[in-house]
Amino acid sequence: MSGSLSTGSIPPATQPALPAHLPPRSATEITAEIQSLEFRFGIDGAYVLGRAAEIAAEARAAGEQALHLWARLLEANMLRRTGELATAAAICSEVNAWAQHHQHRPLLARSHQQLSIVHDNLGDIAAGLEHAVRAVEALDDDATPRARGTILLRLADVLASGGSIEAARTRYGHAEQVSITGHDDEMRLVVLNNLAYAEHLSGNNEQAWTAIQRLRAVTEADGGELSPDALDTMAMIQIGLGRYAEAARIALGNVEAYESSGLDDADGLAEFLLTLAIAQRHLGDTTAAQDSLDRCAALCDVRELAGVGVRVLQEQAELHAATGDTGRAFTVYKRFHEAERELHSQQRDAQARARHAVFETAEARREAERFREQARRDPLTGLPNRRHVDENLPALLADGGPVVVALVDLDHFKRVNDLCSHEIGDRVLVVVAELLARDCGAGFAARLGGEEFLLVLAGCGASEALPILERFRRSVQEYRWQPLTGNLPVTVSVGATVAGPGDTQAVVLAAADKLLYDAKHGGRNRCVMSA
Ligand code: GH3
Ligand code: MG
Ligand code: MG
Repeated sequence: MSGSLSTGSIPPATQPALPAHLPPRSATEITAEIQSLEFRFGIDGAYVLGRAAEIAAEARAAGEQALHLWARLLEANMLRRTGELATAAAICSEVNAWAQHHQHRPLLARSHQQLSIVHDNLGDIAAGLEHAVRAVEALDDDATPRARGTILLRLADVLASGGSIEAARTRYGHAEQVSITGHDDEMRLVVLNNLAYAEHLSGNNEQAWTAIQRLRAVTEADGGELSPDALDTMAMIQIGLGRYAEAARIALGNVEAYESSGLDDADGLAEFLLTLAIAQRHLGDTTAAQDSLDRCAALCDVRELAGVGVRVLQEQAELHAATGDTGRAFTVYKRFHEAERELHSQQRDAQARARHAVFETAEARREAERFREQARRDPLTGLPNRRHVDENLPALLADGGPVVVALVDLDHFKRVNDLCSHEIGDRVLVVVAELLARDCGAGFAARLGGEEFLLVLAGCGASEALPILERFRRSVQEYRWQPLTGNLPVTVSVGATVAGPGDTQAVVLAAADKLLYDAKHGGRNRCVMSA
């Protein structure tokens, strides 16, 4: 079977020259370039791949994580087209996880769309369909018509892959409607081509023919010519309708046009030659058919086109049968079946590799999250540590709402260590941490180091904070320490300040520290709060 979903390529020479990007570009400029490169039909893959890698590096250097990942998705798309499914799958699922975590809808939609193609290519239609549906769900109102249309087209294509032609037809209709509303004829042609191809594969050659005629009408209205992909689909439909002479004429035209174009898309030429051979066999011209098929087989050998190669064997068996050579037909038919099995097992290997890559990404992510979490916790008490404070307190202060920051220090803690043991000292710290965490309300408690803790009370003024701090101070004093420290009391001193507008973390902590000093000098076991 021939014909193809639209991909195609145009020579690098037609691409715009690279601008020299010094000085650094703004996020808006980077976004504009990414948008100009994505969802393009018939663009040169190598160019996009190289450019995407550069943009990804540029965005990372600029600290633009979403743009960095967006460029990575472009890279993944091109890697997938060159058969690097496992790498593509790993990148897409990494972007997808980030987008889910940050609820970044444009990246969510795009990564689901890419994952849908990957799974579809691997023959996992169920997963392909699920990702396509999620991609559609993630589309938001300000998605560009091209993005919306491409994602609807993906859903249609995967439904067609799964044999649900009725459902696919509806979605092709939606995608076409978006392209009409957006005055996007380029996309409309791809939609009609894929619709025609899907109808043809489902055996609905009459419907396929209608779609291809509409495609031709749009092309002609634009003053253009049918693409080789569309022509190949058209020839296959003609074969399906029994119009072999017409099919052979189109396929031959395609081969000749290809040869004079200087293009280097081996996949395309092999498809056209195979279509031509099938049409010629149906016309009874078995010599010409054998010649076309030989050329196709040679191309498949040189370029390692396994997929087309298998179909060449199938057609060769048909051709031997057509010339009455049933013995050779049978032998080649057996080879065809073996080759098909081999291809499927290679696909299964690729599927396993891609699944493994997705799994490893997820595993590495969980590992990184665990590490990140660990690095922000104090191992003794389980409370957030200084790093957590440094990462969260500035934002809380910048929010501008009322915040009380309290420093807590154990009184004469050295004595606990000296008179009991360091181990008992540790256990005392754990209990104090538990009492503190219980009282932190909407804010958070942290261990800053040693026997010094921090309590941040968000949404609280001095009058609300003081009773909370007093209750905590008393709960330490009244705790039954006897089993741990014997007769040695455990108390805390607290210095607390209300953050003023524009106060930085350093200013607030210095103020609290000063008040803590006052609490110590005032006799310890007390809270001192700024007015
Ligand atoms: P003050 O009331 O003035 O705060 O007296 P203090 O004895 O609590 O103050 P000082 O800063 O002199 O001593 C703090 C002690 O806390 C010294 C140090 O050995 C102990 N310490 C710091 N970190 C830990 C820890 O993780 N575990 C234990 N057991 N002791 C610690
Ligand atoms: Mg201290
Ligand atoms: Mg102390």
